[in-house]
Amino acid sequence: MNFTLNSKDYMDYIVAVNQELNEKEEYITNLDLATGDGDHWANLHMGFTKLTEEKERLEALDISSELKEIGKIMMAVIGGSSGVLYGSAYLHASKVMKDKEAIHKEELFEILNAMLNAIMERGQAKPGFKTMIDSLHPAVEEYKVALEEGVSVEELCKRVAAAAEKGAEETRNMESIKGRATYQSNKGMGHLDPGAVTMALQIKVLMDKALEKRGN
Ligand code: ADP
Ligand code: MG
Repeated sequence: MNFTLNSKDYMDYIVAVNQELNEKEEYITNLDLATGDGDHWANLHMGFTKLTEEKERLEALDISSELKEIGKIMMAVIGGSSGVLYGSAYLHASKVMKDKEAIHKEELFEILNAMLNAIMERGQAKPGFKTMIDSLHPAVEEYKVALEEGVSVEELCKRVAAAAEKGAEETRNMESIKGRATYQSNKGMGHLDPGAVTMALQIKVLMDKALEKRGN
């Protein structure tokens, strides 16, 4: 069994993230106020709102071009560190989907892995630095193991989303090594990293979409 995400499904996912973010404005803003400058929610909100406005145009593209356009929009519209990082992530994801028609479970692993590598390279951060990487990295690791074990799509999707969420939760006890939380006297200790939380949110919505689009 596998899942299939086409260009329209991917934009449906983006719209679902936008809705989810809209419901969490105060929570996410407060996370970034505690360790950073408080703009993380607003940055992502601008990006996902713009993407939502461009839905019709983007979903008419092939999947690789769609991911590339998403990256360009994110790079241009999302401010702060996250704009550049998400922009690079999507540009790299676009490359792994070149000449492919749709995203199945193997491709989604390649996409997430490419995003992880792009973010690590661009931001010069590693797992454990209290950043968005700390939810993406465990999700990619779990995805790899689940593929190797040949588990069902249901189990795969649930395990990947859970790994991302657990990773985000673990940033609470990390000292920041990259990003604005390094300016705090306690390096953000005791607080969740906002970027890790919003990354986990996106992974959860993505895996829910994959689950919804599974076939026989
Ligand atoms: P800014 O920090 O410029 O205000 P945002 O508030 O939008 O940008 O994003 C902050 C988030 O970006 C952090 O919570 C962290 O997860 C992530 N981040 C910051 N710097 C890096 C980096 N070098 N590598 C990976 N993620 C980073
Ligand atoms: Mg910020």
